[in-house]
Order: sequence, then structure tokens, then C-alpha cells
Amino acid sequence: MSEILLETQHIQKYFPIKTNSFKKSYVQAVEDISIQIKKGETLGLVGESGCGKSTLGRSILRLIEPTSGRVFYNGKDITKEKMLPYRRKMQIIFQDPSASLDPRMTVGEIVGEAIDIHKLANSKKDRTDYIRNILNQVGLNSEHANRYPHEFSGGQQQRIGIARALSVKPEFIVCDEPISALDVSIQSQIVNMLEDMQKDLGLTYLFIAHDISVVKHISNRIGVMYLGTMVELAESYELNRNPLHPYTQTLLSAVPVPDPKKSRERKRIMLTGEIPSPINPPTGCRFHTRCPYAKPICSEQIPEYKEVSPEHYCACHIV
Ligand code: SF4
Repeated sequence: MSEILLETQHIQKYFPIKTNSFKKSYVQAVEDISIQIKKGETLGLVGESGCGKSTLGRSILRLIEPTSGRVFYNGKDITKEKMLPYRRKMQIIFQDPSASLDPRMTVGEIVGEAIDIHKLANSKKDRTDYIRNILNQVGLNSEHANRYPHEFSGGQQQRIGIARALSVKPEFIVCDEPISALDVSIQSQIVNMLEDMQKDLGLTYLFIAHDISVVKHISNRIGVMYLGTMVELAESYELNRNPLHPYTQTLLSAVPVPDPKKSRERKRIMLTGEIPSPINPPTGCRFHTRCPYAKPICSEQIPEYKEVSPEHYCACHIV
């Protein structure tokens, strides 16, 4: 089996919220998620907006502290560790590049900041060369170092965000919807660049997206989340060929097919009802209020998340 770089065990993240009553309420954003990410692979993570994908990604990096559960990096439990040494190894690329770049800093300052924090350059010249190399790596040039983020297009801003993540020579990157704020024409360029960087630098990715057709191409394995829980996880080809969970089947039925004949033959599964609130999620299987196959047991018992065939995990009573 390939080496595991990152592992979570029973990660849970609840956010307290203010209510009018004396009873404490929480947004139950992530519930009991255990995953393993192998060295050099891309694990895609999909699900509707608000299903807890980004919260899971940030909990892994401890940008927010998990309520309970543990995170292991290279076999070491880092749940309570000081994160500065791990910040160098574990990075994030944010969804909205314009919001994640400080408008008062030049591109050189943005990329150079982490180089200074982690003391990665020995001299001023070394630092300048370092920044120039990274900018070249992401398709920008050294002249761009003196400009400000607002002078760039959305795609170029995301390249700056990627350069910032790369500046500390990380091993693991959480790509948190890195292309969803970009024009469709730019999206494939950024995805191709991330794939090339992975090959060249041996990076490991957790690639978060709300669109399964995006993660399908870039991921070795895909995890599907619904309302804070992991409902299915399998190797990418297997998940697309043989989706077991009704929610995964629904997501895949919405992916456009280029062949018009196949497209006509295919049945689109339409979900009814609103996504329930994560403050008061449904009992038993959280999907039971919208699932076309729900049985009485589904509202009573939480389905076990188990391995149903080698490397194919699913949480459903009828699978
Ligand atoms: Fe549907 Fe029941 Fe399976 Fe949940 S456990 S996905 S409600 S069949």
C-alpha cells in the first residue's frame, strides 16, 4: 500500500451560534470524518455548497481548530502541535484570489512574506532569485513582482495565490475550490498547471470542488460529502463507473455527456426538498429527507461508513 501522508480520525467541527433561547446551538459543519491521503495523490472532495468541505480542509490545516478528532501528518499526531513547522509543509490555495491577496502588498511582498518567515533565503539576491523562479513556475514573470494584485486578471491573481503557496516548498496543498471563481476559459489552464506542478514537485493535493465533473479529471480518488458527513469514497474511475450512494448517483446524473444520444438515454435524478439545516440535521441518515430510496430505518439509525469493496467506502443502509 502507498505511504499515507495525511490522515484524519473522526474529525468533528461544530460552530457555536447565538440564539434567543438559553439552549446552546451549534452549526454541525463536519461530523465524524476519517480519511487517508496517500503521498503524491489527489483526493477530490465534492458536495453542495455548505456541506463542510472547506471546513474539513481548514480543520486539517488547523486554520480552524477541530472540535474533536485527530489529524496525523506523516504518521505524527499534529492535533495539538504548534503549527509553524507544519505551515511550511502544508499549504492552501483559496477560492477567491482577489479576497485572499492583500491589496496593499506587491506580488513580490506577498510571495516573499513566507520566504522571510521560514528563513528560506540567505541574502537579498537569493530572495529576489527565489521569487523570480516561483513566479516563472506559475507562468508570471519577474516584472510582475513590483505590481499590486488589482493590476491582474482573476486567472493571474490565482497564479499569485499558487505562487504564495509554493514559496515554502510544501508537500501537501489544500486546493479549496481554486477554479470556481474563474472564467471557464481559464479554469483548465489552472487545473493543468496544478497537475504539472504535482508531477514536477511530487505534491499531494486535497482538491475541493462543488462540481464532480471538475474533480473527476484531476483526482485519483474522490470523496463525496453531504451535510457534514462523508457518504462515499472510492477510486475516481470506480466512483464514476459504479456510484453506490444515492447522493453520488444524483451528482453524477447531472454531469453533462458530450454524446447527444447517450445524453437523451440517461435519466437525470432530481432531488426534491431543501438541503436541511446543519444546525438541526435530520436524524439517522442525514440524506433521508431527500433520498428517493429512503426506508423507515434511514431516519432512525446512522448508516455505518464502511468498506463495501476494496478501497470503496459508502454509508448507506441499502448498499
Ligand atoms: Fe437513502 Fe437510506 Fe441510504 Fe440514506 S441510508 S442514502 S436515506 S437509502
